[in-house]
Formats: sequence, C-alpha cells, structure tokens
Amino acid sequence: MYLVFLGAPGAGKGTQAADVAHKLNMVHISSGDLFRDALGKGTELGKKAKSYMERGELVPDEVTTQMVLERLAAPDCARGVILDGFPRNLTQAQALDKALKREKKTVDKVILLEVSGEELIKRLSGRRICRNCQAVYHIMNSPPKVAGKCDKCGGELYQRPDDNVETIKNRREVYSVQTAPLIDYYRKPGKLAEVRGEGGVDVVSGKIIEVLRQDR
Ligand code: AMP
Repeated sequence: MYLVFLGAPGAGKGTQAADVAHKLNMVHISSGDLFRDALGKGTELGKKAKSYMERGELVPDEVTTQMVLERLAAPDCARGVILDGFPRNLTQAQALDKALKREKKTVDKVILLEVSGEELIKRLSGRRICRNCQAVYHIMNSPPKVAGKCDKCGGELYQRPDDNVETIKNRREVYSVQTAPLIDYYRKPGKLAEVRGEGGVDVVSGKIIEVLRQDR
C-alpha cells in the first residue's frame, strides 16, 4: 500500500505518518527528514537543499524526486509506505505516478489533514524535534518528560530554523500555491480522504486508520 499524507505546514503530517506507520507496520518516508539528515551530515544533497529550506522554498524537483524515488526502491518499502511531505507539487506527483506505474503500483490513498489556521501557527511555533531520531514534540501539547530531551532516545530537542514567523509565512504561501492543487489531483480519481487533524495524536491516527480500513 502506498499512502500520501497531505496538509499545510503544521497540520501534523509528520506526527501522524510516524504514528500510523508504526501501528500498521509500514515505512514512513519524510522528504523533509531526508533533507535535514543530509544537511546534518553535510552531504552534496544537503548543500543543494540548504538555501531553499532556510527560505521555506521547495528544493528543485529533480533533486527531490530522485532522493525520494531512491528511498522508495529500498527493499523495506515492500511492506507499504507512507509518504510525508512528498509530492509537494504536480510535477512531483506525476513523477511519482510514473515511477510507481513502472512497478505496476499506484498511490492507493491520500489523507488530507485539515487544521484551522490559528492552530497551525501554534503548532509550528511550539514544535520541537529530536536531533537524533526526528521524534516530534510540542512544548505545550506533547512536552517531553525531561525538558529538552527526547523520551525515546535521549537526543537533544531543537527548534527547526524554518519554524520562525517569517519562514512559516512563506511555507504557507508555497503550500497554497504549489501543493494545494494536489488536493484536486487526487480527489478526481477518488483517492482523497479528508481527516480533521485537531485532537490528540491517537485520536487523529485512529480516524486515519478507520478511513483506511473502510477502504479495503
Ligand atoms: P518539511 O519537513 O516537510 O516541512 O520540509 C522542510 C523543507 O524541506 C521544505 O520547506 C522544503 O524546503 C524541503 N522539502 C521537503 N519536501 C520537499 C518536496 N517534496 N519538494 C521540495 N522541497 C521539499
């Protein structure tokens, strides 16, 4: 099964993709995490992505698509994949369709997470990430047991440099202009399911899993 999680920045794609993937024994692929990992390691890919990420712009399609398709080709992906943050525009969606079609596969379902604008800002500004395992926390809604430390691996928590007011504004603009057209792209063939993203992590992931079950 190939799932895509769509939603504005802060809608909870990463948190939900990780939770649902864990519960359904699927692989969670986050294009943002792949870039942040490359950035942290100082690889060529990281160097290419850096300036775009800092500005909240999309990294060029060729670079992004190649990175994600390479990851998708790994053997562990045979058990099913949740894509989080990819595709982010029509070119990427078409490249994904083409690559899956070659393998006689397809995007099975797209979950659109919907959260109010005010809530999105609150979520992004309070978000903290583990530098080591990328687990996501929120200083108010889901704080770690020990301040600044990841519950899962003890790694240091940090605030993403693109979670500042100016960059958030740009990322939202990029989402509405470039990514939101994907809603219709996936709605037309009947692949889109809309899920309200407000509420606890388990409540929302429960709703997503229910949608997936109904579809089987
Ligand atoms: P995210 O963690 O999904 O919010 O992504 C963080 C940043 O990584 C984005 O603001 C982009 O600069 C870059 N990025 C992640 N996914 C993509 C993508 N599919 N296409 C282009 N750039 C991306």
